[in-house]
Amino acid sequence: MTESEHIAHRLEAAQLLASFAPADIAAWDQAESLPEEVSMTLARSGLLGTFIDTGHGGRGWDAVSFGLLCAEFGQASMSLLSIVTVHSMVMEAIRLSGTQQQRDEWLPALADGSKMGAFALTEPDFGSDATGIQTTLVACSEGYRVSGRKKWISHAARADVLLVFGKLEDGSAVACLLPTDTKGLRVTPMRGLLGFRAAMVSEIEMQDCVIPAANLIGRKGAGISYVAAGALDLGRLAIAFGCLGAMEACVADSVAYATKRKQFGQALVKHQLIQKMLADMITSYKAAERLCLHAAERRTVGDPLAAMATATAKYFASTHAVTVANLAVQVHGAVGCSAAESRVERFYRDLKITEIIEGSNQMQQIMIAQNGMGEFVQSALKRKRLQTGQ
Ligand SMILES: Cc1cc2nc3c(=O)[nH]c(=O)nc-3n(C[C@H](O)[C@H](O)[C@H](O)COP(=O)(O)OP(=O)(O)OC[C@H]3O[C@@H](n4cnc5c(N)ncnc54)[C@H](O)[C@@H]3O)c2cc1C
Repeated sequence: MTESEHIAHRLEAAQLLASFAPADIAAWDQAESLPEEVSMTLARSGLLGTFIDTGHGGRGWDAVSFGLLCAEFGQASMSLLSIVTVHSMVMEAIRLSGTQQQRDEWLPALADGSKMGAFALTEPDFGSDATGIQTTLVACSEGYRVSGRKKWISHAARADVLLVFGKLEDGSAVACLLPTDTKGLRVTPMRGLLGFRAAMVSEIEMQDCVIPAANLIGRKGAGISYVAAGALDLGRLAIAFGCLGAMEACVADSVAYATKRKQFGQALVKHQLIQKMLADMITSYKAAERLCLHAAERRTVGDPLAAMATATAKYFASTHAVTVANLAVQVHGAVGCSAAESRVERFYRDLKITEIIEGSNQMQQIMIAQNGMGEFVQSALKRKRLQTGQ
């Protein structure tokens, strides 16, 4: 896709998000819920399935356009971004691991927002170590009976279908689509969270929920290693770009506030220690932007190292977004501590969550170290060969 297409796509997302008043976005966060009409606006926006091919009701956008869309969502509200993220992850799992029949059946409705998806991997006792999950799928005459508990599931309270991960009787990990109107399913919204408060994060209890065998997504045994991993890779890209958008908002608000607010007879922005904070924020943003765009570009061309680039971008962007939000609160002083008086209070809380979700940053560090080491060993060997002429 061309640069002008990327700009046009970003503008489209920006226009949708501009239709939500900042005061309303803050109110959803306080209420820990999203009004039904906002969910409907999102669903009908045509922007929920942009990366899905046009044959399946999407827009066929590349990863850069998808990333820029996520940056716009992140700039407006990390809760909205998380809804887009998990919905996209469900579509991505079906796109990568579903059969042709499953893609034809599920993708059009998810891409046009008439059905909303949520991604249910984490359990009360298993987070980072997803291979330990205890949700069971027991074969029965109708297909499978799904039983177990999931926790911290974004947007589950409003979703139409959950992508649930569990294990068959032989212990092999699988993924399945579980419609939320299935008998035996109970969804309980979780309140009082640090961030993503309008994303309706929920606990889920499944008791003998019957699904047809046709709802199994991907190969038996590949539920975590392939289906979840592929979806999480896209989720990381979404979160990295979302952090970028949130950082942009934090910098913009801080510059505006420091220009307007006077202390010791001059605008805050004239004080060099304030300039130092702004310089650090701007530098973090610029570096994160390069890493995010690099990851999206690698993904677009199908580079096998794209997942590594995405993990690096997510790790860097989320870590620096937390620092940027912290500095933004500092620049705003007491105003930065009030949800009624600034957005940075919300970003400070929301961005901490990004260091934990889609594989915590410790998991990203492990992945980056394990994969990155080989790259550096190879380049050292190459240099040695060049130097010795062998
Ligand atoms: C707001 C919110 C929304 C969420 N949405 C979803 C969702 O939609 N779907 C979903 O499935 N899950 C969701 N989650 C759950 C999230 O994916 C998990 O919180 C995450 O995977 C980490 O798992 P955990 O919280 O159980 O932490 P744990 O795995 O218990 O880890 C605790 C700490 O120990 C660290 N740690 C763990 N193992 C190691 C190790 N080997 N080496 C070094 N450090 C380690 C972790 O990085 C972390 O800092 C959400 C969580 C939050 C807070």
